[in-house]
Amino acid sequence: MKNNDCLFCKIAEGSIPSSKVYEDEEMLVFKDIEPKAAVHLLAIPKVHFKLISEVDANQAEILKRMLTKIPDIAAKNGCENGYRLVINQGADAGQTVFHLHIHILGGQSLEW
Ligand code: 5GP
Ligand code: ZN
Repeated sequence: MKNNDCLFCKIAEGSIPSSKVYEDEEMLVFKDIEPKAAVHLLAIPKVHFKLISEVDANQAEILKRMLTKIPDIAAKNGCENGYRLVINQGADAGQTVFHLHIHILGGQSLEW
């Protein structure tokens, strides 16, 4: 379901442009606008779901399929030597966009 006020729903439907690197019927991967690493991609489900703490069984299946596809997408986009996956949850993690997204960070040696 779409949330009209959600930035990443708008990116998913294409009404806000993004630098897409991968798209299929249920997920989109695009470049982060303020990269925190040499490669910084964001993988989102096209359907709106908000928080990792609120994922239901159906959404967990979508996430599982996303995770299955990410290694190939990462390797094809400059992360052939490895990458870090991050999901921020809530204020202490600094979550700013409340449409669940997986950060893919790589393209360099990452400090912890
Ligand atoms: P969070 O802090 O919620 O885990 O991550 C949100 C991410 O979205 C941030 O890394 C931020 O740079 C990125 N971001 C925010 N607005 C936009 C945008 O309009 N386009 C793109 N491509 N990335 C965005
Ligand atoms: Zn959304």
